[in-house]
Amino acid sequence: MAKNLENPTVNALSDNYKKERKLNFLEKLYIPEILKGLWYTLKQMFQPTFTLNYPEEKWDPPAIFRGRPVLVEDHGKERCVACGLCARACPPLAISMQAKETEDEKERYPDFFEINMLRCIYCGYCEEVCPEEAIVMSKDYDIVFESREDAIYDKERLLVPKEDLEDRLEYLKNYRNQQFGSFWDFQEENNIHSVRDRDRDWNTGLSLVDMIEQQKNNDSTPASDSWSA
Ligand code: SF4
Ligand code: SF4
Repeated sequence: MAKNLENPTVNALSDNYKKERKLNFLEKLYIPEILKGLWYTLKQMFQPTFTLNYPEEKWDPPAIFRGRPVLVEDHGKERCVACGLCARACPPLAISMQAKETEDEKERYPDFFEINMLRCIYCGYCEEVCPEEAIVMSKDYDIVFESREDAIYDKERLLVPKEDLEDRLEYLKNYRNQQFGSFWDFQEENNIHSVRDRDRDWNTGLSLVDMIEQQKNNDSTPASDSWSA
């Protein structure tokens, strides 16, 4: 057997233990220490408070906070084009969706979109990979379920108007620009759902119908026979 196990240097039977300071009579009573603790508590009662009386008082987190992931609603429609990237990137496979196309304008949209909040680990990968800035981490941390089914958020529960997510969208703009350089920015006009009301909001002079018409004209122009033309 190893020597230090046969002759341990510090334990209840060692010489060091015998040299420990003995408690005096008052210390053995513990009453002075209890009174000291009570006095400290009493003093703290009159100090300024920095805690919140949750849930009556709610904390407003900063924009960097990663709360419940939500879908961005833009002009009454989801920005999501159901590309499936977020579902691919989600480590615990919390996201599921089914893509569909509208008959009129061939827009892709999620027929259903669900996040299982029992699985979500608030990592924010879905937000990072989304090419449409259609899913972002909100400030919502107050999440309660009454059953396992209740924890599966469908599209209606996930959609939040972009006006209510301004803080986070602005934060992402600055944060991403630092990572990708000053040339990257979310191209809102690339999102077909945002384009719908472009004429009204951005005064570009083209409605969606006009743009589709223009696209048809472009498509009907015969292609050149050679690359050099
Ligand atoms: S925050 Fe992370 S775990 Fe939650 S849905 Fe997004 S990718 Fe999945
Ligand atoms: S939320 Fe973004 S990444 Fe996910 S399917 Fe929609 S567009 Fe694609």
